[in-house]
Amino acid sequence: MDRKVLKNHEKITFKIRDLEIGGDRPIIIAGPCSVESREQIIETAKALKEIGVDMLRGGVFKPRTSPYAFQGLGLEGLKYLKEASEITGLPIITECMEEKYLEVVSKYADVIQIGSRNMYNYPLLKAVSKMDKPVMLKRGISATIKEWVMSAEYLASEGKKNIILCERGVRGVDTYTRNLLDLTAVPIMQHETGLPVFVDPSHGIGIRELMLPMSKAAIACGANGLMLEVHINPDEALCDGEQSLTIEQYKELYDAITN
Ligand code: PEP
Ligand code: MN
Repeated sequence: MDRKVLKNHEKITFKIRDLEIGGDRPIIIAGPCSVESREQIIETAKALKEIGVDMLRGGVFKPRTSPYAFQGLGLEGLKYLKEASEITGLPIITECMEEKYLEVVSKYADVIQIGSRNMYNYPLLKAVSKMDKPVMLKRGISATIKEWVMSAEYLASEGKKNIILCERGVRGVDTYTRNLLDLTAVPIMQHETGLPVFVDPSHGIGIRELMLPMSKAAIACGANGLMLEVHINPDEALCDGEQSLTIEQYKELYDAITN
């Protein structure tokens, strides 16, 4: 692989506020797939904070397969997410899909998420690497290890140091699960890049009952963090309800992996 920066396999750690990313303790990111309303995100943030969580997630620009599906609240949602962050003290991560919104997303968010569909969007990768915020680079839905490493190298070659990789499943042969959660990617990507590697079992599997065993498995194989979708009322969720944990299920999972 033609790498100039991410080639020495040296472990990279960095801080987001007081959280050590890539350190000894796995970081837990949780929150809804999408910010749906001010009340929803604030109530969710408070409930998660009470149970225990390191960072709040919530999409405001949603990369939906159908153009008719809920596309996110946009800038209004970003403000609600920020308000939830200020109330609870939790740092926030949210996806940016277009270069034109990078400035505003980086003003509000603690971490800029590059979603699976944009892992190959090289102009976006170059632009995000110039922002003064850490970036989470999710694995493309059909990305090989090499392609994912090279996308991370795009960020690193433009000077970005604070990169989190996130395994979120690849398209497999079976449709029983939403995707095939590839946990082998965790030690491989750590070895190949030195970067912290998180696991998103929600998009990787798509079935909420499988979040607990596979979160345990992710941590057992050395993941530096988890990203989990949680909804106060999954049956009413505007996006990804079937894979979202209830608050009670999140508590059970959180207790199981932190005790
Ligand atoms: C998300 O985490 O909100 C998301 C859309 O995931 P992915 O890009 O992995 O599909
Ligand atoms: Mn989702």
